[in-house]
Amino acid sequence: MSAPRVLFLTQSGELGGGERSLLDLAAQWPSEREVMVLADGPFVEALRARDVPTSIEPLGALASVKRESGAPGLGALTDVARLATRVAKAAKPMDVIHANSQKAFVVAAAAGLLARRPVVWHLRDILTTAHFSAANIRAAVMLANARAAAVIANSEATAEAFRAAGGNADLVQVVHNGIPAGRFDAVTVADAANARRALAPGAGCVVAAVSRLAPWKGQHVVIAATQTLPDVHAWIIGAPLFGEDDYAAKLRAQVKGLEVSDRVQLLGERHDVPTLLRAADIVVHSAVDAEPFGRVVVEGMLSRRPVIATSAGGVREIIRDGDTGVLVPPGDPVALAEAIRRVRAMPAALREVMVQRAYDDAVSRFSVEAMVSNVARVLSEAVSGRPRRT
Ligand code: UDP
Repeated sequence: MSAPRVLFLTQSGELGGGERSLLDLAAQWPSEREVMVLADGPFVEALRARDVPTSIEPLGALASVKRESGAPGLGALTDVARLATRVAKAAKPMDVIHANSQKAFVVAAAAGLLARRPVVWHLRDILTTAHFSAANIRAAVMLANARAAAVIANSEATAEAFRAAGGNADLVQVVHNGIPAGRFDAVTVADAANARRALAPGAGCVVAAVSRLAPWKGQHVVIAATQTLPDVHAWIIGAPLFGEDDYAAKLRAQVKGLEVSDRVQLLGERHDVPTLLRAADIVVHSAVDAEPFGRVVVEGMLSRRPVIATSAGGVREIIRDGDTGVLVPPGDPVALAEAIRRVRAMPAALREVMVQRAYDDAVSRFSVEAMVSNVARVLSEAVSGRPRRT
């Protein structure tokens, strides 16, 4: 079965996890494809650097409609119509439109009608009121039920929230994200040692937490836990991507207030995550709300470092507690500190077994090849008009 020709449509030009997953998907897509992005930014550069045909169509007034707010105004609706016409034109030479984000799906749904192409929504968010207004969820789910040929959920947790919000269960298929292992395998012992020496010379234990800065990602929990572990250094890696500058300022104040400036480093956005994870002793994931997937958890496994992650959402599908990592309750610095102590106290041979098992598991369950072929299967079914799954 050859893969269909796809117009990938996505909203943000920033390089968040959803965009990084689309980058690998589009770069390795085995058939004709174009990515249309509704904002310029580093994601566009990254696509072009990998020779993916890419275009930009700015969102206009639709950009200011917040996911927490209700119905869009007239300006936003006019922009949907304008954009849909352009997207439909780009979709004509393709077989199917893949919408990688919620706003992209709204535009794609209209464009699909105009171009007479099926639309598949790749859902990468947990649709609950922790992140979206009730009106927003209702509108998105109604639109999906009416217009999506299929909904790809990036985890069972994401699929479950869609169903719980009234989404048609027959539409949904789970495809886990794939992370290329090569970038992690390529890190040498010397690279890691150099990074460690440069950033935390003499540190007894370094924990690394990688994530954009946002209150729900829970970096404050890592800082609070570190304060109670006197010989532990923490690298907080990531920047506020979607306007969470206040939270970044709060984290800086927390570090100062707890007097851990010599042990907690806010490293900002980094492009050498594989090296930093290998240079650390433990990888920590600290989201306080359910993570739709959690690429960084798989990345920790691929780095052959013990991973401590919060037990919620997609993470529970990635880590088997005590077997391929350690799960802790979300938002609990005491439990996190205790887990760090426990992992440090593990006999080296046992830790090695856990880390190797996690690596093997990550390679076999979260490959880019599997992600591409599973998405291709769903898109092919959408194109052939196969009846919705039961
Ligand atoms: N990331 C990065 N540099 C940073 C912070 C994050 O390269 O400074 C990457 C990280 O390695 C991961 C992605 O951004 O691949 C974040 O994806 P995840 O699913 O963990 O979270 P999301 O941003 O989608 O909520």
